[in-house]
Amino acid sequence: MPHTSSVPLFWRLKKSKYMMIGSKCQTCGSVFFPPRVICAKCRSRGKVADHQFTGRGVIESFTIIRAAPEGFENAAPYAVALIRLDEGTSISGQVVGSIEDVAAGKRVRPVFRRITQDGDDGLIHYGIKWEIDDGSAGTEA
Ligand SMILES: [Zn+2]
Repeated sequence: MPHTSSVPLFWRLKKSKYMMIGSKCQTCGSVFFPPRVICAKCRSRGKVADHQFTGRGVIESFTIIRAAPEGFENAAPYAVALIRLDEGTSISGQVVGSIEDVAAGKRVRPVFRRITQDGDDGLIHYGIKWEIDDGSAGTEA
């Protein structure tokens, strides 16, 4: 199987996590997030390349998390939504802000936020969450 990418897998995953880099099949146009090295539709016949997602999309459905897992207790209650990205694929993620504002059909945009902090050593993990896109300039942290 031809393998044109020399970028290590861990860095590809890191890029996808922090910059919303997915992949797009140059053969059939299918988009994937997280990125794939093989097109799910064309299999090995597809030529897959990095694709920058906007991260913008529409809430398809959501769940309110009231009993949060360890490390996320302070965040509860919060909404986890299935988001249909404008590019044509879906992703699940946390929606920040008031849970009262979360509804199916609402537009969302990505924001870069703190995900969790490891104990006392202060190691902070960041990642992408979503906020309701009300058309304002945004609250990019
Ligand atoms: Zn394809």
